[in-house]
Parts: sequence; structure tokens; C-alpha cells
Amino acid sequence: MSKTEDIYSGGKWSEGQGDPFESLCPATGESVWQGHAASADQVNEAVAKARAAQPKWAAVQREARIRILEKYADALKSKAEDIAYAISRDMGKPLWEARTEVGAMAGKVGHSIRAQAERAGDKSDGGLSLTHRPHGVMAVFGPFNFPGHLPNGHIIPALLAGNACVFKPSELTPSVAALMVAAFEEAGLPKGCLNVVQGGRETGQALLNADINGLLFTGSATTGTAFHKHFAGRPNIILALEMGGNNPLIVWDGDVQAAADIAFFSAYITAGQRCTCARRLILPEGKFGNQVISALKTRIGQTTIGKWDEEVFMGPVASKRSAQMAEEFEAELIKSGGDPIVPVKTDGAFVHPALIDMSGASNVADEELFGPLLQVYRAKDFDAAIQKANDTRFGLSGGLVSENADLWEQASLQMKAGILNWNKPTTGAASSLPFGGPGLSGNFRPGAYYAADYCAWPQAGQVAKTPSSPPMVGIK
Ligand code: NAD
Repeated sequence: MSKTEDIYSGGKWSEGQGDPFESLCPATGESVWQGHAASADQVNEAVAKARAAQPKWAAVQREARIRILEKYADALKSKAEDIAYAISRDMGKPLWEARTEVGAMAGKVGHSIRAQAERAGDKSDGGLSLTHRPHGVMAVFGPFNFPGHLPNGHIIPALLAGNACVFKPSELTPSVAALMVAAFEEAGLPKGCLNVVQGGRETGQALLNADINGLLFTGSATTGTAFHKHFAGRPNIILALEMGGNNPLIVWDGDVQAAADIAFFSAYITAGQRCTCARRLILPEGKFGNQVISALKTRIGQTTIGKWDEEVFMGPVASKRSAQMAEEFEAELIKSGGDPIVPVKTDGAFVHPALIDMSGASNVADEELFGPLLQVYRAKDFDAAIQKANDTRFGLSGGLVSENADLWEQASLQMKAGILNWNKPTTGAASSLPFGGPGLSGNFRPGAYYAADYCAWPQAGQVAKTPSSPPMVGIK
């Protein structure tokens, strides 16, 4: 990678004046991207370019904006392999998964167009009119786990609504941004509408302090909460915070193998690095629960783990440090009374799927461990299972495996999760639906299909072509 891919501002790439940094492939340790962070001045300049470009972009007819975004989707498809390789090299997910991520990026355009028309379009009815206006300049912060799909999921609806964006990728996954920029250039997006500033926290802080109108963030609850505090007392800044979860999956009855497979997939896909991954498996006491654990152990034993270009179920976690965090978290769980069923085993950044029985534990940390470690809890009845599921500050995803429709009705009424799946993995989420949840998982600005809502503000009007006097009651 050329190091001129540090900053893309006003349609030009330039070198960062901040600290050097690199992205290491977690599978091999090889350096796959080198560059310099954007300095605060450079961040301000990128925001100024966005500010200058935004009114002209907002004045472009919506149909013309749509055509550009559709061309962007086509350009993404033509670069799909390059993008998939960039994602896999930076963060280690297997290529088959990275390819589905690129598919979701291209698919986002159609979903966003439909969502905008439905939720943030124009309407007029007699003398009443409704339209939506862009906020201005949006800062977009990306996480490492879906380095293309998730920032793309903010950028497309934001551009569609007439905003300009300044995108700061995760410092762990800088590579995909240049490919996204190339696709936007091919599509004819006017210069300055999308800008990129590479870097870590300092660059991120500079972007928070810049002249922005909105923050579209996907990342951890710790970071999102700090950002929320940063903007306290500034209601004029739109904040869309998509954060993590400590997601429960209740597996209650049904086919043992299917139930175990749903639990396996929910917990270990992407090496446990999806915000919707199940972290807590809640099983009934007794035979069925024991059988599910046993089937899960068998699946764990069958799991293939390897480098992203191999035919494997999962790759490494994002870094050696992330692997150590899985070990540290397991140690904390054991201190709380946890009993490992399949202990955490690491090899560099590779972490084997792990399972720990937490039934006898107390004061368990309500934290998200972003890795392949699943906690098991046993419940004496379904009410106790629901209570355990809701025993968290988060509320992103959850699930129930059961053939009993009454239990599903109870779960859907009582479980506190923005994404709640029945007899499906917790990780299944559709772009045609909203994405987000209560508690520490966000600030009630769900993304995906509802991203249209936070990318524009409504302007309501009562209108007439000619003036007429309003009712003049009490005027002599
Ligand atoms: P993170 O919070 O560490 O980083 C996210 C972004 O914020 C990165 O660009 C990072 O550079 C920046 N950042 C972090 N700390 C900062 C600081 N102090 N100042 C300025 N910038 C800062 O998240 P991550 O580890 O990249 O991603 C994993 C997290 O994201 C998990 O918690 C996961 O659950 C969450 N996530 C949520 C969703 C969702 O839609 N709800 C989707 C994917 C991931």
C-alpha cells in the first residue's frame, strides 16, 4: 500500500502528519498497511472540504444522487475480490465471510434508497408538506470487525440524504477505505462529499472536536459512552451510537443438534467478533440442557481454524492482545465461580472456541468479551431463563430456540433485545430491518433500515400558493 493513502480530503490523497502506524495481519503478523495518522489540522481541513462540498451536494436532485450511489454499488461489485482480501488481511476473517461483507456493502444501496423513500422522503397532502433536510457534515467512525459494511452503512444513507462525510476507519483495518474511495470516484461522487482520515484515538478525538453536525459511530459501549459524554449539552449534534452487547440465547427445547448448531454459530462465527454474537447460553436444568452442551462440545472439537485464505470456519481474533483479553476474561469468570467446560486455548491471535459453565457463579461481570468464549447458565424454569437473559445492562441481540409458540410469545414480550430471533442464530440481522437495541447497546438511533431517520431532519409545513387572512377572532 502506498503511504499516500492516509488522508483523502477534497478528492485528493495526501500523507498524514501524525504518528506512523501499520496494520498487521493477525494470522501471520505480516505488515499489510503502513501509513501516518491524520493530524488535527489535517482532520480540520478534511472537515472544511466536506463543509464546502455539502450544500452543492444537497442541491443535487435526489434522483441524481441515487444514480451515483447505484454506480458506487456496481463499482464495489467489480472490486469485490480486492475488497474482500483487504478486509481479511487486516482483521483475519475468512475470505468466504469477507465476500459476504462486500455483498452486503453493495446491497446497502438499494436498501437505503427504499428506506429513505419510506421513512425520510417528501410528502404533500393538500396544504400540508413534509420534507427532510440533511444535517451537514457527518463524522463516521468504523469498528474493526466489519470494516467495510458498517461504516458503509452510515455513509450511504448519509450521502443519500445530502450530507457530506468524514470517515475515520478503525486503525486496525485501514485498507478498505481506499477501495471504497476508488469506487466512489468511479461512480462520480463530487469531490469533498466523502473524505477519509486514517488514524487512531488522537485522530478520532480531533474529528470529535472538529466542525461537524453529526457523529455516526459503530464500536464498543465504552467508546460510545465516552463520545456521548463528549457531546453532552450539545443537542444540535446528531449522535447515532451503535454499540455492543452481552447477548443471551435461551435454548429450551427442540432438536438437540439443530439447537447446538444455532448456539455454536451464534457464539463463534467471526471468531466471536460480531456485536450480535451470543455471549450467554441459557439452558434448562436436566437432560435436554446436558445434551445440548455435549453436542456443542462435539462441534467445538470439529471446528476448523486457520488463515483467512484457507477453507476454515473461523480465523484469528483481531490481534494477539485480543487473544490475551479472552484469556484474562476467562480468568475473571473463573474467579467469579465459573467452571471451564472447554477452556480458552490461544496460539498467537488464534483463539479456539471456548465454553464455560457459570451456573454456580456470582457477581459475574456484565461485559462484552469480543471473542469466542460462551458462558453457560442453567435455569430451573422459563421465567428464570428470561430473568437471566435480561440480567444485563445491554440489549442488542437475543434469541430463543424452542418449538413452543407460547414461549416465543412470552420471550418476545419480555426479552430486552433490539434484535430478537426465534430458532435462528442471534447473529442473523437483515438490512431491510432496523438494527440496534436498548440499554448500553446504543442511544435509540438504530441503524440499517432506520439509518434514514438519523441522516436527515424533518421539515413540516402548512403551505398555500396565495396568502389569505387567518381566522381573526376577537378583532373589531
Ligand atoms: P472501538 O470502540 O474500540 O473503536 C471504534 C472506533 O472508535 C475506531 O475507529 C476507533 O479508532 C475509535 N476510537 C476508539 N476509542 C477512541 C477514543 N478514545 N477516541 C477517539 N476515537 C476512538 O470498537 P472496535 O473494537 O473497533 O469494535 C468492536 C466493538 O464494536 C464491539 O464492542 C462491538 O460490539 C461493537 N460493534 C457494534 C455494532 C453495532 O452495530 N451495534 C456493530 C459492530 C461492532
